[in-house]
Amino acid sequence: MSLVEAAVDALNAGNLIHLPTETVYGLGASAANPEAVIKVFEAKGRPRFNPLIVHIGDLALAERIGLFDDRARALAKAFWPGPLTLVLPVRDRDQACDLARAGLDSVALRMPAHPMALDILRAFGGGVVAPSANRSGRPSPTTQADAYEETGASVAVSPDGGDCPVGVESTVVSLLGEVRYLRAGAVTRAQIEAVVGPLAADTAEGHRSPGRLSTHYAPDAPVRINIDTPSEGAVYLAFGETDYAGVVIQLSAGRDLHEAASNLFRALRDADRLMPKVIEIAPIPDHDIGEAINDRIRRAAGFVG
Ligand code: AMP
Ligand code: MG
Repeated sequence: MSLVEAAVDALNAGNLIHLPTETVYGLGASAANPEAVIKVFEAKGRPRFNPLIVHIGDLALAERIGLFDDRARALAKAFWPGPLTLVLPVRDRDQACDLARAGLDSVALRMPAHPMALDILRAFGGGVVAPSANRSGRPSPTTQADAYEETGASVAVSPDGGDCPVGVESTVVSLLGEVRYLRAGAVTRAQIEAVVGPLAADTAEGHRSPGRLSTHYAPDAPVRINIDTPSEGAVYLAFGETDYAGVVIQLSAGRDLHEAASNLFRALRDADRLMPKVIEIAPIPDHDIGEAINDRIRRAAGFVG
């Protein structure tokens, strides 16, 4: 039996799988099966009020589960498959069960670009919830080994899809009313605006996406951000050249934001394994995918986003 067949069998049986995607490794379960979705919350230790993204392999299925308008179609056409999640009014509450939506009238949908994820989703034919495969609060896994370390005991199938090229979770955009940028990711504000026009202003309310907890992505060691001159004994996550004499883990020697994003979670994990008294992170420019990096490291440091 191929890995894809084994993954589909597991999903049909209500079991969990690891789903390699271009953003991070997901912990996958059938979105239509509440008993399977409960296992995701349990394996992650995730609060039940935090809704899950439903991953789909084709547009027709997406249009059955969520209510698409012209803006949603234009964004899907521009960015799917890819690292963009659309929050839409829910149409089919059975395909995306209440537990997957945390009881909301909306559903979050994404078509991932990873070939293995697409193969599994298309062969399965239904929606698959797939939050990051880490235990709640910890850095997301971007390699199969890291996914296995986090939740390997809970999955029936753990395919190796290689290292995740994007490295931070998908951009989340809400189309409930005005277009709102709920979570920064590889698809930038400017790219969204180029397709659907200006985003709604960032009010506190607009920022509030359910389940966006303040401390997240956190290693065991304390994390400090925006550090140019690391303190003695720190493990330093550098962005470009540094003359720090202690342990340095480069996010990107050439100051490439995409490279830094793809290295971020692995770097946090590698730093944590050294059990330092503190992990310090260089300032990261806040444009393009840098906004997503800064969002994640602020949360790793325990700041409210
Ligand atoms: P993740 O934690 O990566 O699984 O992403 C899930 C995030 O997507 C949630 O924390 C929300 O920010 C967002 N999300 C998922 N479903 C919905 C929904 N129905 N309405 C609004 N935001 C949602
Ligand atoms: Mg997560």
